Amino acid sequence: MVSPWQFHITAGALCLDFANTVSWRRSGSPIERLQTYADLASWGRQVGLMSQPEERRLNREAAAHQRRLLRTLATARSLREAIFAVFARISEGGVPPNRDLRALEAWIRTAVEHSKMVVRSGRYRWEPVAGASRMDDMLWRVALSADELLSSGAVRRIGQCSGRDCRWLWVDRTRNHSRRWCDMAVCGNRAKAHRHYRRRQAIEAGPSEPSIA
Ligand SMILES: [Zn+2]
Repeated sequence: MVSPWQFHITAGALCLDFANTVSWRRSGSPIERLQTYADLASWGRQVGLMSQPEERRLNREAAAHQRRLLRTLATARSLREAIFAVFARISEGGVPPNRDLRALEAWIRTAVEHSKMVVRSGRYRWEPVAGASRMDDMLWRVALSADELLSSGAVRRIGQCSGRDCRWLWVDRTRNHSRRWCDMAVCGNRAKAHRHYRRRQAIEAGPSEPSIA
């Protein structure tokens, strides 16, 4: 069996980690990391929203309800795209497209309807009530994370990776607001390797011909 894709959980906010389940958005050929319902469940497990036995159970059910679960996958991707569109625009200093903001708003409204207010370590937050399906619970938590981010001061700290093809989103929680990369191990090193390659090319090409005015 092929081992599941290891998602990069580095955004600093659950909703942005979900938005980052498409790789290389800035390139001509982005890669969809939520190809199947199993990928969605795997993401849920990797971010800690469901346990391994829950993930296995969802995958067993998936085999029996293919059509319904394809719909769930499509719905999950539509939530993700609304989150990406809204926060990408915010990170560029713009106003989110109305259509995407309204779509996200509808998700948040549904999530709140199925949640109760709880206090954890002195912080008040919405949490889905028990009894929802694992998948609904997971997607509502993602929507609630978007709500929390939109209404917090951290909304002014959202950025996009400087990687050439990347565009993953993150919250800059560094003290001096210096975050540039989604993950130094991904885009930071890629950029370093690219600079190194360009330098080597320049050295091998030798000094350029002086231009004649
Ligand atoms: Zn990146």
